[in-house]
Amino acid sequence: MPELPEVETIRRDLVSRIVNKKIASVEVKKPKLVKNKLKDFINALKGNKIRDIKRRAKLLVFVLSDNKYLLIHLKMTGQLIFCQGKAITGGGHPFAVSKDWQLPNKYSHVIFTFSNNSQLFFNDLRQFGYLKIVEEKELLKILNDYGIEPLTADFTLKNFKNILSKSRTAIKTLLMDQKQIAGLGNIYASEVCFSAKVKPDRPANTLKEKEIKDLYRACNLILKKAIAKRGTTVNNYVDASNRQGSFAKLLQVYGRAGRKCRRCKKGTIVKTRINNRSAYYCNYCQY
Ligand SMILES: [Zn+2]
Repeated sequence: MPELPEVETIRRDLVSRIVNKKIASVEVKKPKLVKNKLKDFINALKGNKIRDIKRRAKLLVFVLSDNKYLLIHLKMTGQLIFCQGKAITGGGHPFAVSKDWQLPNKYSHVIFTFSNNSQLFFNDLRQFGYLKIVEEKELLKILNDYGIEPLTADFTLKNFKNILSKSRTAIKTLLMDQKQIAGLGNIYASEVCFSAKVKPDRPANTLKEKEIKDLYRACNLILKKAIAKRGTTVNNYVDASNRQGSFAKLLQVYGRAGRKCRRCKKGTIVKTRINNRSAYYCNYCQY
């Protein structure tokens, strides 16, 4: 699932390409992915301009020219791919560009065509993602439901500590709880715990002062670094512009089960399950 760094990478790529473009038409092939009445959805978009693209946690917010907003959530396997002539850019769920790769393909469920004939494709293999047009009031309600977000002014050590001290939930699970801390998913939550030398199944309220500080620092540091590297793509896939999210090379625990720990050189990376999600940690230097 694309997490904060991957969604931020898509946002940055798309801003320079589609802001101020006029939407000429919208084709919806899988209406169930649209959370409005189909007619309302299409009417709201047709002829409208995209003024800006913002992001809250893993949610993309396309600001339209008449105080409406298009929300796009990629969830597990969503992708946004923009094509203008032969230039292709996009991200989300990793994909390999092969000889027979083309757009639209059988996973292209929503297609936006702009007035200069460039196109934005919303592809989704498993169809957990969604698109929704909202007005400002609903937007604010949705945004307020998210917890504090790393790399923003809200994300202070005090707020972070406050959340941890009130919860007996396993720290990794809490780090992924979007209503508490917004933007981290399965990959970065394991990495953050490793960085702070904290075992991911520790109940949050048992963490010591120093561990909390280290976790807090790791959240900011790892996400910042991951954004700089255009996120993480696993399985050696590249994006359509032939670029790979190169943070994959910097992963210390995620996907490294059975390998030697790079930090202590003594432990082995163990894969376990915490609250039904995979978790990775070093069995020697994380407590
Ligand atoms: Zn170790």
